[in-house]
Amino acid sequence: STPIRIGIAGYGNLGRGVEAALAKNPDMTLVGIFSRRPPESLAALDPAAPVFAMDALGERTGDIDVLMLCGGSKSDLPEQGPALAARFNTVDSFDTHARIPEYFDAVDAPARAGGKTALISAGWDPGMFSINRAYGEALLPDGATYTFWGRGLSQGHSDAIRRVPGVAAGVQYTIPSQEAIDRVRSGERPELSTRDKHTRECFVVLEPGADADEVRAAIVGMPNYFADYDTTVEFISDEALRRDHDAMPHGGFVIRSGNTTDAQAQVIEYRLALESNPEFTASVLVAYARAVHRLNQQGRTGAVTVLDVPPGLLSPKTPAQLRAELL
Ligand code: NDP
Repeated sequence: STPIRIGIAGYGNLGRGVEAALAKNPDMTLVGIFSRRPPESLAALDPAAPVFAMDALGERTGDIDVLMLCGGSKSDLPEQGPALAARFNTVDSFDTHARIPEYFDAVDAPARAGGKTALISAGWDPGMFSINRAYGEALLPDGATYTFWGRGLSQGHSDAIRRVPGVAAGVQYTIPSQEAIDRVRSGERPELSTRDKHTRECFVVLEPGADADEVRAAIVGMPNYFADYDTTVEFISDEALRRDHDAMPHGGFVIRSGNTTDAQAQVIEYRLALESNPEFTASVLVAYARAVHRLNQQGRTGAVTVLDVPPGLLSPKTPAQLRAELL
């Protein structure tokens, strides 16, 4: 059968991850990478990969089956999502949790009008973690759901550190509390505060002449980002930062702890341990591209989320193969 034709819109960490993931999925082919930056300024992983200006997408509606939207959630996707879903089947990783309902509506109307299918908010959280929260709640209605993140590099918190006066560079890791995880796994269903669940670890390179104590105080007291957590700040050299902290690991756990009768506790756990957050997120997006292509062929148009997609549609195997091999 003919391969699914994929376009990549936006070429940052996630865009590169999609390019890499396509190499592991022989039923798909890369039609082009589209960027707002000049094509000649981009170094694709595969030097032979076709790179185009974003404007060139206008002429490509007929030869892209699914367009992967790899822009940032903060300002790129709110614009690009609705505009591109009018003309292409799309998959994106919009991850501003509180704004997902309004983003869904903004993408749904143009996708419906254009007869396209737009899968929003794929990835791991939102994404695979959302699916596991849904399973947990449905299977164990008398229970509690716990999400722990990390150990992982938080892009948002790292950016916040870099804005503190006196900071030249820095990264932030979110660390789940082992004690809290152990209590949840035991079936105890504890009430956990924000501070109980995670700690934050910062590695900071100071600007010359900056006062370390002032910088530390500014970081640990920062509202919304650090004030509600136990935060440690370690000062390191620029060389150590580049040597030890240039990867983007992440992951975490979704645990549902519930009771079927008072005496019987049941615990479900889903765990991700990721050496590269963007490469894993991209792998999820690519599997959902296959599902989106099929949903569109079946006539399911408009916006959808991972909660609307049957798992078999993610697989390159036929339903008969899946029944024989995986049930
Ligand atoms: P990046 O900042 O690397 O890329 C975002 C966009 O910025 C790109 O599409 C690109 O657009 C532009 N860009 C990239 N590099 C440069 C550069 N050097 N100079 C100028 N512009 C650049 O973000 P990520 O790829 O790391 O993440 C994208 C989004 O993925 C995040 O905002 C996050 O919301 C989401 N995400 C979701 C997850 C989930 O589990 N659901 C997990 C991880 C991430 P262009 O090529 O057009 O210039």
